[in-house]
Amino acid sequence: MDAVKKRVRAFVRVRPTDNFAQDMIKFGPDDKSIDISIKKDAKKGVVNNKQTDWSFRLDGVLHHTSQQLAYETVAKELVSQALTGYNGTIMCYGQTGAGKTYTMTGATAEYQHRGIIPRAIQQVFQATACSVDPCVTVRISYLEIYNETLVDLLSTAPRGGSSEGPMAVVDCPQGVYVKGLSIHTVGQEEDALHLFFEAGETNRVIAEHTLNKSSSRSHCIFTIYIESRSRLFSDVKCINSRITLVDLAGSERLSKTASEGHVLKETTYINKSLSFLEQIVIALADPRRDHVPFRQSKLTHVLKDSLGGNCNTVLVANICGEAVHVEETLSSLRFATRMKWITTEPVLNESHTHEGTVKALEKEISLLKQELAVHDSLVNRSLVSYDPLTDSQIAEIKSQVHKYLKGAIDEIDVVNVRQVQEVFQQFRLIVRQQERKVEARLRSKYVLIDKTDFAAVAAVQKAGVVDVDGHLVWEEDGRDLATRAAPYSPRLGGKRKPRKGSEQARKERIGSPSSARAPDGVLPSRSQEIISTKGLDVKEGARDQDAADADAELSTAAPVKASQRPSSPPPKPVAFEQFKEEGGSEISRIFKDNKSILLARKNRSKSVVHRINLIKREMEDVQRALEAQKQERWQQGEYVDEEGHTIIDEKEFLLIMKLKDLKEEYRSGYAELQGLREEIQYCQQLVDQCRNKLISEFEIWYSESFLIPKDVQEALKPRGNIRPGMIPINRVMCLEEDEQERFERMQEMTLPDCPGSVSFYRAKMRSDQKHTYARTMSALRQMRKKPGIITAARKNKPLTFLCVT
Ligand code: ADP
Ligand code: MG
Repeated sequence: MDAVKKRVRAFVRVRPTDNFAQDMIKFGPDDKSIDISIKKDAKKGVVNNKQTDWSFRLDGVLHHTSQQLAYETVAKELVSQALTGYNGTIMCYGQTGAGKTYTMTGATAEYQHRGIIPRAIQQVFQATACSVDPCVTVRISYLEIYNETLVDLLSTAPRGGSSEGPMAVVDCPQGVYVKGLSIHTVGQEEDALHLFFEAGETNRVIAEHTLNKSSSRSHCIFTIYIESRSRLFSDVKCINSRITLVDLAGSERLSKTASEGHVLKETTYINKSLSFLEQIVIALADPRRDHVPFRQSKLTHVLKDSLGGNCNTVLVANICGEAVHVEETLSSLRFATRMKWITTEPVLNESHTHEGTVKALEKEISLLKQELAVHDSLVNRSLVSYDPLTDSQIAEIKSQVHKYLKGAIDEIDVVNVRQVQEVFQQFRLIVRQQERKVEARLRSKYVLIDKTDFAAVAAVQKAGVVDVDGHLVWEEDGRDLATRAAPYSPRLGGKRKPRKGSEQARKERIGSPSSARAPDGVLPSRSQEIISTKGLDVKEGARDQDAADADAELSTAAPVKASQRPSSPPPKPVAFEQFKEEGGSEISRIFKDNKSILLARKNRSKSVVHRINLIKREMEDVQRALEAQKQERWQQGEYVDEEGHTIIDEKEFLLIMKLKDLKEEYRSGYAELQGLREEIQYCQQLVDQCRNKLISEFEIWYSESFLIPKDVQEALKPRGNIRPGMIPINRVMCLEEDEQERFERMQEMTLPDCPGSVSFYRAKMRSDQKHTYARTMSALRQMRKKPGIITAARKNKPLTFLCVT
């Protein structure tokens, strides 16, 4: 904030007297000027050049002014400013007995005559009490400078000394301070006043003096330090200010006091320091002076910041109204005028402390925790903790998330927001792991092409490997034998169930074969006039001319030898033909056999359908003829036998018999069709399974033969019957999830090198069996951090199980 330049304000206060020199001292009508007029000294003759009239313009003349008005005029605004962060200094200057102490301290016996210091204390505490922010600290100190000696008037040590050795005025970047001066925190007005009064009674040096029996012979500086912290959200604003209230020793000249002995010495000191003060004031008032000799006396040094600094400064020149003191009065008014020339630049002593912010936030957190505790106890949730989750709690959540994904539990227990966040975190981790795994699996199996990379897609289309949708395609037996080129997709469903075996896994990948549905009833209705032959695809197997005779077992289907490997993999349609000749011959043969059976059933079914349709049409013809016969009978009149039965003719009888036979034939035909359809459905499934098996085995064969590097295949061999591309999902999942097993394996590996750590981890594991996952991972991480262990583990037994994931 830019400082605004201000002039020091100066007031004059006249001590009431019965002998007021009315003819000598005159006040201006606005109470801001004072005129002094001295009659010419007749003794000095007619020629007398000595000035006899002076006029002083000040900020106010306090004449017959109450303590209350004097305070309001001189101090109130300055104290208010101090409460907002501006330092302030009020200084009383004048000859002994002129009323400096009365102005500053007042008559301590009576409340209404109390001076600036008690009133300032009161104003500060009243403001504190009204403040919305209770974080205000008020401290006080009381320094006396007597014969160039610093005395702590609030010291508890004997005779106002300092317990930390001799006191000293010290300059530091933050300003001048008195080393060893005690500063007392006062919680309330009463305490501050009590200290102040006590100091005044007991400590202050007062010398008997011809002018005034109880006038002080020392300079006294009472300081009120205000420190307030206010908070707006997390921003903590600290205000540090002080009010310096100075009661100077009498400024009278030596000659007048007729002092002797040590009083003379006192007077000498006083005069010296005051004349230094005067020099300082003159220097400060002169903008061309760059050096101000503050250090010349203790008084000027202590007042360095208060006078020339960045504070509000007010001077009260106390004068006596008697003619006899006119010289001193003139001197004091001159001093006041000079003070008015000084300009200061009050600055706001405000800081935003990080430490303060942290403290405020800590306070806020503890308050909120208390609130939560109250809330929880009201709703019977007293056991809920809101502290950050521990490792074991995180592990528990992780375990629950895994169980939830497996379907072992239906719900995950959460009682606070931290847990909810951790659950989501765990889901995210799992999803990321799955993404990486799926991508790795796809990459090991497919050459992934970015669908938006049109050049690459076009090149592959040209080679006849993918269709426009990015599907790998080639014609095998008249149907699209399509396998997804599987463009990378981060979307994943829930966790996949571990596969029981490759057979079941393949079933999962098989789409439901299209199958004709059986009609609800056995007898045909109108809607079943023509039984559809849709789905009875007779194309199956029509192009099935290449049934292989090879009897190689599929499980032993050997990949193309490394030495025979081409530098780049052949197109899949070409490789597929090769596969059918070699490793895939058996499955290919079974596939073809199944297809021929299917085809035979379908052909049979088709002929049955055809026959049924013929029967159906014949039945309708007979039905129509029968109807016509009945009509004719009714028109000609019916014959009835003795028992009342209608007698029909032979033609009608034959028609009825024929219809009965046709219905029987229809029923048996339909039953045969039903049986055939079930067979076809079953055969269709077999064929589809065979087809999928053929494709997947081909993919494996193709990967082994042309894509997976030889060394990777070698690395995987020792792990039993795991074959690249054939790793059952449950094996992979097991390896990934069973951290207990992994940990135990790790223990076995590290045991010879670091048994102590293993026992530790084992004990840890046993102690908390719930935390399998996170704890083991943490243990593994710890072990990995130890170079010896990991080297040994890698050297002795490679972590092959990690290679699988
Ligand atoms: P100083 O401190 O300047 O030596 P004091 O404050 O001790 O002078 O005043 C001397 C005497 O004059 C005291 O008894 C004080 O009560 C009295 N006095 C000074 N100023 C006033 C005033 N404005 N009204 C009433 N009494 C005053
Ligand atoms: Mg005094």
